[in-house]
Amino acid sequence: VSDSNTEVSDKVIMTWNQSNTDVHVTWSMNGTSLSKYDLVCNIHDAGRLFQGEIYLENEVLMIGLELKEQVKKEISVTHNSLNNSIMVTLEKFAADKKWSILGSAMQSHCQSIPRSLHNHRYYLSHLISKTAITHDTCLYHFKLPDSCYMCVPVGYHVYLQADIGEICISRPYTIVVPDLCNVNSELLLDGRNLFMMIKAYNDGAFTSNVKNLREGDTLSISTYEGTFSISMLSLYQNVLMLCGGTGFTPMIRILHYCLHKSKKTVQLAFYNKTVEDILWMDKLSTLCMQFSGRFSIRHVLSQPGKEWNGEKGRIALAHLQDMLNACQDNVLVLVCGPMPFTEQALRYLSELGVNSNSIFTFT
Ligand code: NAD
Repeated sequence: VSDSNTEVSDKVIMTWNQSNTDVHVTWSMNGTSLSKYDLVCNIHDAGRLFQGEIYLENEVLMIGLELKEQVKKEISVTHNSLNNSIMVTLEKFAADKKWSILGSAMQSHCQSIPRSLHNHRYYLSHLISKTAITHDTCLYHFKLPDSCYMCVPVGYHVYLQADIGEICISRPYTIVVPDLCNVNSELLLDGRNLFMMIKAYNDGAFTSNVKNLREGDTLSISTYEGTFSISMLSLYQNVLMLCGGTGFTPMIRILHYCLHKSKKTVQLAFYNKTVEDILWMDKLSTLCMQFSGRFSIRHVLSQPGKEWNGEKGRIALAHLQDMLNACQDNVLVLVCGPMPFTEQALRYLSELGVNSNSIFTFT
């Protein structure tokens, strides 16, 4: 890879240049744009290898470069919104040394793999903090190594992986913003910091292990996966969120976007067992006041205590009918929760004549 302007594939263009201290590698696309989410990359092998993927609509384009010279381990990635390109800055280990070429292409370089067949890579990440949200659910803040960059798209998840006894177990968790009320929360998801809400189950082999993690401990985190597209929202003025328990987690960034970054109207129907199980109940109330007229919540409890005066039971046709009536047909329905909950919701939505194109389920 010696030219300063190299065509990587028929779609993606890579260019590179250098200063005394840094090497800059820039990716852009013919015709369409690359967002900050589209490149996932890391440096390894003591600063000799640069590896990554560019996520295109249906395919993943592999990047693998044996660098001509050694670089320092910290990677820095910036997105240029003017020309929709992504620039990676690699810091030269030997400043002032001029590179004759960027490096040589590894065998996998430029290979295109269908998204569904692409294997995840895992990064050993540090737990920065763990904050209790309810009696059994915590907000975990993980940090990827400085040599990695990954901005996870809204509604996407990663896998956490751990060796439990003899078995290696991985589980998917959606990336959330750490504060629903702060308009700038998304900025904290800067390509290195990741937040997840994880409920610990008493009989859960994996979550009981995660629950015991302490600050500074490490866990492997995969590259991301998902099918939701935030652009779906542009077709609708109203959003109806149907969530059972931790099925609320994929809604968190979508809700944040709808309220803080758009003028959409959101109804959240939140089904939990007990009042103690409701995630971020106080933050949701605050948002309801802040965005009154645009955001409303219906809490429904299936195992309420005597003190609960609100709605009781499980998801019901009449609830959905009420909420859909308020939307004048222009509504995107998002569903996530235990599988039987999601299936019941889909049956009711079908009975109520909601077009399946206007429903997205996180499963
Ligand atoms: P939970 O067992 O506490 O149940 C929450 C509520 O769901 C209940 O109060 C009830 O109203 C409803 N529900 C449960 N079983 C039902 C049934 N058989 N029929 C109708 N309604 C029912 O929930 P939890 O322990 O927090 O689990 C949440 C579930 O959401 C998990 O199964 C998890 O895998 C899933 N989830 C999926 C994603 C995703 O992206 N796919 C993300 C987060 C959570």
